[in-house]
Amino acid sequence: ALGIDWTTDWIRRTAQVVHDHRVELVTLDREIGDGDHGENLDRGFTAVIAKLDSLPADAVPGDALKLVATTLISTVGGASGPLLGTAYLKGAGVVGKDEQLDGAALVAFLTAARDGVVLRGKAEPGDKTMIDAWTPAVDAAVAAQAEGRTPAEILAAAADAAEKGAEATEPLVARKGRASYLGERAIGHRDPGAQSSSLILRAAADAAA
Ligand code: ADP
Ligand code: MG
Ligand code: MG
Repeated sequence: ALGIDWTTDWIRRTAQVVHDHRVELVTLDREIGDGDHGENLDRGFTAVIAKLDSLPADAVPGDALKLVATTLISTVGGASGPLLGTAYLKGAGVVGKDEQLDGAALVAFLTAARDGVVLRGKAEPGDKTMIDAWTPAVDAAVAAQAEGRTPAEILAAAADAAEKGAEATEPLVARKGRASYLGERAIGHRDPGAQSSSLILRAAADAAA
């Protein structure tokens, strides 16, 4: 099972990977949006890291996830802040005060996180948004959990599926977010939010490996 050390490691790895990929994410967003996605997330996760050490010594995973949620919502100006913030918030809600997350808890967390994005943004699969990374990730996590795989294996399966899901946004026309204003001109470009969500889920898997 995965506890607070995994959670904070995931958050630190996310901040690092978002920072390292900010130019790539900005470039993707410049093609079909307003070119700020990498900077938005980098600003948000930098603010998260600044607050992470202020967590009490007896913090549980849900406390750290809630800190991410509130910080992203308050520091990221773009659409992705409230969307990802709601993901972490709803995810934190289902893990509650649990000290250790087993496979079932991770599946519940990922499902609630994805549902949070849907609740907030009303996107459906195939709309060329971050949902196109989250939904295959949830499906893969559910399948891996049903096969009795370990938490690390469940997260790896989720990350693999998210990566493929992000790639699969390339041929799509966007139906939500700024890219939806482009119509067919969005075809051939990967959705920046799907790409960043796949990086975030890979960081979760790496922290568990
Ligand atoms: P903004 O578009 O406000 O500049 P960002 O660039 O930070 O915000 O984030 C853009 C990403 O947000 C998109 O690539 C897409 O994945 C995601 N997004 C936008 N609208 C929605 C929505 N309604 N539901 C889910 N994801 C969305
Ligand atoms: Mg943008
Ligand atoms: Mg913007």
